[in-house]
Parts: sequence; structure tokens; C-alpha cells
Amino acid sequence: MVKIIGAGPGAKDLITVRGMRALQEADVIIYAGSLVNEELLEYAKKECEIYNSAYMNLDEVIDVIVKAEQEGKKVVRLHTGDPSIYGAIREQIEVLATHGIRCEICPGVSSFLAAAAALNCEYTVPEVSQTVILTRMEGRTPVPEKEKLSLLAQHGASMAVFLSAGHLKELQEQLCEGAYTPDTPCAIVYKASWAEQQCIKTTIKELEQKAREAGITKTALVLVGDFLGEQYAFSKLYDPEFQTEYRK
Ligand code: SAH
Repeated sequence: MVKIIGAGPGAKDLITVRGMRALQEADVIIYAGSLVNEELLEYAKKECEIYNSAYMNLDEVIDVIVKAEQEGKKVVRLHTGDPSIYGAIREQIEVLATHGIRCEICPGVSSFLAAAAALNCEYTVPEVSQTVILTRMEGRTPVPEKEKLSLLAQHGASMAVFLSAGHLKELQEQLCEGAYTPDTPCAIVYKASWAEQQCIKTTIKELEQKAREAGITKTALVLVGDFLGEQYAFSKLYDPEFQTEYRK
């Protein structure tokens, strides 16, 4: 059985306890080196075999796993953030199943959560937005027509845009084709939770320029929406006038 582990957004202590234990016990670790912080590999045993999947294709990853499984080794596949978001795990799970190998997934702290933490903000503020859209700009991976950014932007909801730091001009344009305006607040968070973390709060119209000035071209998330603005209402949950099951 292979353990697919969410590494968290970067900081070594933002992996789950379960994920850390799996790294400590692993005989083989294959990590997504383009985004996983290598400090996490310090949890591994000295004799652990470590592979960086940034240099491997799917067949090579599968070969390493199948061979290790045949030798009875404990295998960890380490993905950045949470594996369920742009993790490319589905094909791994299905190909491994054809070899009779099962996978168990351990969730991780996704970068969109670390980015909100870095900004001290809440995506779901009352009377502003109660919805978070996780999406990306189209790149070499196509995005379904109905999920075009300009369509998703029509909701004006809180949005976290992955994998798009290299296309900020187009991103600005497409966001403003929806309900956002050039003055809608947005932020770009580079390497959330890493030592090199940078947070820039700005507006949609200045996003590309601000990111360029800061030299940010990748490993960044763009957050968009009025949740980053000044206006909001207090939550009913802690309202003195409001009764709950626990507080009469
Ligand atoms: N599974 C990951 C996402 C992988 S896609 C997760 O849950 O976070 C890779 C994209 O995630 C990057 O292009 C960037 O947009 C974002 N990303 C990953 N780690 C990040 C971090 N620490 N800070 C900001 N963005 C990050």
C-alpha cells in the first residue's frame, strides 16, 4: 500500500502529524520537488531512498513504486499542499491499481489556506461572500468552457487562483469581465508559509504591475474578492442576541 501524503504549503511544521509519521517510517519517498519544501525530507530515515518526481514521468514514478512494493518497502508519495487539488493523483491511483497496489491518502494544508492565514483573513465573511472558488487560468492544461474565469467571476465570490502567476495581465482582464471591477481588492501570496513568503495586497488593476515589481512569476496564489476589503458584517455565531444549540 502506498501512502499519498499532503506535504502542506511549505513550512516543515505544517504537515499533519500523520503525514510526518509516514515520512519517518518510509523506506522510499517520491516527492514533488518543484513545490515541496525539501526541509520536510529531514523527517526521513537516513537510509530512506528519495526520488524527486520533478525529473520523472508517470511511468518512471510507477516503476519506482512497483519495484519498492515488490521488495516490501514502505512507500510515500509526497505531494504539495493537499493532494486533491491539482495533485495529478488520480492517474497514479488508477495505474497502481492495475498492478494490484492500493493507495491511502493523507490530507494536507492546501496553499489557499496558508495564503489566507498569511493575510490574516477569512474567505467567508457575512454579507460579502459565503463561497470560495478554487480555480486556475487555462495553461497547457485546458479548463472546461463552462469554467472560464470570466464566467466564474460573475459570482463576485471569494476566489483563489492557482497556477496562474505567469498570466496576470490576462487574469486581470478576465476577472473584470465578471462581477469584479478594476478596484476590487486582490492579493498575491508568494510561497505562503515558506521563509521567502511575500504577501502583496492590491487591487485587480494593479496586480500585474505589483507582482512584476516584486519579481513574482511562480509559486504564488492570487486571491480576489471583497473579503479582502473593508466592508463586512459580524457573524451571527457570536452575536450576543443570537441563540445557538450551545448558548441560550
Ligand atoms: N496541491 C497544491 C496545489 C498544487 S498546484 C495545494 O493544495 O496547494 C501548484 C500551485 O499551487 C502553484 O502554481 C501555486 O499557485 C500554488 N501554490 C502551491 N504552494 C504554494 C505556496 N506555498 N504559496 C503560494 N502558492 C502556492
